[in-house]
Amino acid sequence: MSTVYLIGAGPGDPGLLTIRAKELIETCDVVVYDYLANKEFLKYARKDAEIIYVGKKGGDHTLPQDQINALIIGKAKEGKSVARLKGGDPYVFGRGGEEAEEMVEAGVTFEVVPGVTAGVAAPAYAGIPVTHRDHTTSVCFITGHEDPTKEESGHNWEVYGKSNSTLVFYMGVKNLPMIAGNLMKNGRHKDTPVALVRWGTRCNQQSMVSTLENVAAEAEKRKFAAPSIIVVGGVCSLAEKLSWFEKKPLLGKGVVVTRAREQATDLADVLKNMGACVYEFPTITVEPLDDYEEVEKAILGLGAVDWLIFTSVNGVKHFWNQLAEIGLDTRTLGGLSVAAIGPATADELKARGVTPDFVPAKYVAEEVVAGLLERGIAGKHVLIPRAKVAREVLPEELARAGANVRILPVYETKLTQQDPSEIVDALEKGKIQAITFTSSSTVENFFTLLAPDTLKKYPEVKIACIGPVTAKTLERFGFVPNIQPEDYTIPGLAAALGEGL
Ligand code: SAH
Repeated sequence: MSTVYLIGAGPGDPGLLTIRAKELIETCDVVVYDYLANKEFLKYARKDAEIIYVGKKGGDHTLPQDQINALIIGKAKEGKSVARLKGGDPYVFGRGGEEAEEMVEAGVTFEVVPGVTAGVAAPAYAGIPVTHRDHTTSVCFITGHEDPTKEESGHNWEVYGKSNSTLVFYMGVKNLPMIAGNLMKNGRHKDTPVALVRWGTRCNQQSMVSTLENVAAEAEKRKFAAPSIIVVGGVCSLAEKLSWFEKKPLLGKGVVVTRAREQATDLADVLKNMGACVYEFPTITVEPLDDYEEVEKAILGLGAVDWLIFTSVNGVKHFWNQLAEIGLDTRTLGGLSVAAIGPATADELKARGVTPDFVPAKYVAEEVVAGLLERGIAGKHVLIPRAKVAREVLPEELARAGANVRILPVYETKLTQQDPSEIVDALEKGKIQAITFTSSSTVENFFTLLAPDTLKKYPEVKIACIGPVTAKTLERFGFVPNIQPEDYTIPGLAAALGEGL
């Protein structure tokens, strides 16, 4: 029989998952998750893992608790390891204690992986430390939604009212008038600051600060709903001063990333760090070629080559894969001059021990050609490992400048079969503020998957593109980019979005 892991998945920001939790998601046979556990973590699961959603939104249980217990115990008794993911911490209003008791009763081995609880994290992301020496000596976690079948309330409002403890209510928004009323009735001053944090630590976090007297009305006016944490006490007065997360330039902005999944992560990560709600919609996939005979020959003939020019990270990766495949390594390039067309490509080369002899300051063909001419490329043998189908400008310009150019396809890009319905739905709901295009093929493929006329229905959605070539392709589909960086790089594009959204 195997182990059940009761795992806290944290409050939502994917970075707040513990290392232990990630390890277990990666290795368990079964992953059972509910409404507040970020779905993003499922990507860590094994490809053959069984993934089960047992939801829970307000009172609406996809599976009743006893069936969840039976399910988990059943899987464990089949000899499977189970990662039971719960939002926040499993033992803080997560019914983790009840599930653990069931495990004991059923004789199932279990372990607990504590998580970052929303009652601490959501306030922290809203600028509120739950304790602070100037304001309070304690903090109290309280359910704002007591089990309605209980005969007698477990709340001692008198104690909450008299103490100066920070009070953190979970599941309490619906009962806000009752909560605020009881606290005032029992001695808390009507001007006591109260904060609400909705979807804390996520890109759609919202928060507000009010007072016990006004909070219920204000929350209703501003339509604050679950899931929200309510914080009561002097510490809430620090929210404005200590605000940081909500100051991120792209917080709450929906941005579509259309790059290939293999290369999307850098742009997606930069945008997420800036607070954006990123929709990954990869329009291309990067695939190895069916046949590497030509590449092999070219590698064995590198002795006759003077310059190797890499135009993409993928070009570097696939070229080196092939080197390794035939039992060679970086030393094969000894004596060759190497150029990288952009800083990311240069980094990829440096990671393999090659410091490029030339990286242009600006990433357009003309600059590259000028720079290479200065370095005496005329009359030299040039090899360009790159995608099977790509723009011809660079090789043509180099040939015109007198170089002896050979293109070497080392990978190919293909159109993905993505379902655009999630994007269309988000557009319709006004959740998307910008779509990013990082190459002409992302534009062409995007509009193959989603008709240009569909996008034209949302003129408020900004079109962001990396450079003039991509902009030209966009124009062919009837779009003029609203956001375009000076510097045609991924960080440049991200910075332009930060300013332009
Ligand atoms: N075990 C969880 C709490 C589960 S109870 C934890 O430790 O965080 C569910 C309640 O938690 C919600 O009603 C809400 O009050 C709170 N909550 C969970 N995630 C939240 C988030 N990201 N932002 C605000 N509140 C959240």
